[in-house]
Amino acid sequence: MTLNLLAPERQLFVGGQFRPSASGRCMDCENPADETVIRQVGMAGTADVEAAAEVAGRAAPAWGDQSWEHRAELLRELARRLRADADRLSRIDTEDSGNPIRGSRADVAAAAKAIEYVAGLGGECGGRSIPAPAGVLSFTRRVPCGVVGRIIPFNHPLLFAAQAIAAPAITGNAVIIKPSDTTALAALELAKLTEGLLPPGVLSVLPGSGPEAGTAIVRHPAIRRIAFTGSVPTGRAILRAAADNMKAVSLELGGKNPLICFPDIDPEAAAAAAVLGMNLTSSNGQSCQSTSRVLVHDQIYDEVVAQIVARFAALRVGPPQHDANDVGPLAHREHFENVIRFVERAAADGAEVAVGGARPDGLDKGYFLTPTVLLGVTPDMEIAQEEVFGPVLSVLRWSDYDEMLRIANGTRYGLTANVLTNDFGAAWRTAAAMRAGVVLINGPVAKPTGTPFGGLKDSGLGKENGIQEVLSYTEEISVVAKFEM
Ligand code: NAD
Repeated sequence: MTLNLLAPERQLFVGGQFRPSASGRCMDCENPADETVIRQVGMAGTADVEAAAEVAGRAAPAWGDQSWEHRAELLRELARRLRADADRLSRIDTEDSGNPIRGSRADVAAAAKAIEYVAGLGGECGGRSIPAPAGVLSFTRRVPCGVVGRIIPFNHPLLFAAQAIAAPAITGNAVIIKPSDTTALAALELAKLTEGLLPPGVLSVLPGSGPEAGTAIVRHPAIRRIAFTGSVPTGRAILRAAADNMKAVSLELGGKNPLICFPDIDPEAAAAAAVLGMNLTSSNGQSCQSTSRVLVHDQIYDEVVAQIVARFAALRVGPPQHDANDVGPLAHREHFENVIRFVERAAADGAEVAVGGARPDGLDKGYFLTPTVLLGVTPDMEIAQEEVFGPVLSVLRWSDYDEMLRIANGTRYGLTANVLTNDFGAAWRTAAAMRAGVVLINGPVAKPTGTPFGGLKDSGLGKENGIQEVLSYTEEISVVAKFEM
């Protein structure tokens, strides 16, 4: 299939222009469904980060001096361009990431919506006035941070790249995006859409490795604000590296999210929620929000488990470009092998592989794994504690309420928690006891645009998707004045 890639081959995007990397190095973008190379893109090193930071630093003041209405107008035009190009962009995202095409279409729509939402918040980013005695004026101003570095993961390449531009740009910052080394195409195509729209330097896109290009962004003294989405170990490394230059950091990290099923719930509804919560048909289970620990009450355990297993077994795994397929391949080889090793170790620890756990018959190429359900999982097992980030769901049984709460909160993560019950008191009591940044009752329920998203504990620092995120790309300065000397 021809993909019609518009961003030039073997290049990256700096200062409003596509150009080769300073070293001339390139990296492969692989299609995880058939292991072929789709494209080579420029591979950024330290010199490219220097160049991008320099042009961003020059572009930021004039961009920040524009009216927010003007910046919002340009962002809305970017959203319009995304929508007009949705079919092409979603096919590129699917070929590069392996996400099912239905998921990629939803991501393009969500990207446009996110940009428009943030564009509308521009007027809310002012400071405050503080009560002061007669003759004194005390107020705060919010000013852009200047240059923002955004480092994003592989699982929603286009959506995350679009979000990476929106909030920093509306508040008057220039942005440098480092896409994942395994899914760089979408961010470059997005950069292509900004040509003739955003002033040169306001956006740079630097594909490259994390340890090299990522670290150079985090360490660069002129990049004052870092927003990272990715794994806990990388988040820790970034926080440490950012300390030297005292820069503001937000971290959106992993999750090991519980889905708690109470005995009053219809087992079919519980099983449907468990499958939907895994985000299999949007990102092959590679979602920080995936409900990978299902805690089922003893009274409904057998029925719920039978339904979950049947539903997992019925999922069609295959090339993600075809609408008929529900689940595609994992994003890259190393990750695929990691996920398989997780399942092998869980089995060695005593978990039962009820369905999945292997490559599907007839799919010899590509990083396909049949969606997997593990039973007999106990809270102490690695599989109950660590994020797998794939189509692997663990079922745990509970009967004692307090013990269930301990299990639900008993990992180092705290991203989302999900409670299923029609008993209002139980729902509220349990939701209130969850140490998670997002608690969903009787979901999965689509979070209304603007709902803050972010983790507690090792799941991260800071919030995204609402006014707090937009404000986090500003610095607040207090001004206190007397009317007369
Ligand atoms: P990762 O941490 O391996 O990589 C993320 C990004 O960081 C990539 O662009 C990578 O190149 C870069 N990177 C790697 N090492 C770096 C370093 N030392 N310095 C700077 N940058 C570096 O994560 P991944 O495998 O791409 O993504 C999966 C993880 O992302 C999962 O843990 C998942 O839960 C998390 N995630 C979280 C959210 C959220 O909103 N909380 C959303 C999506 C994914």
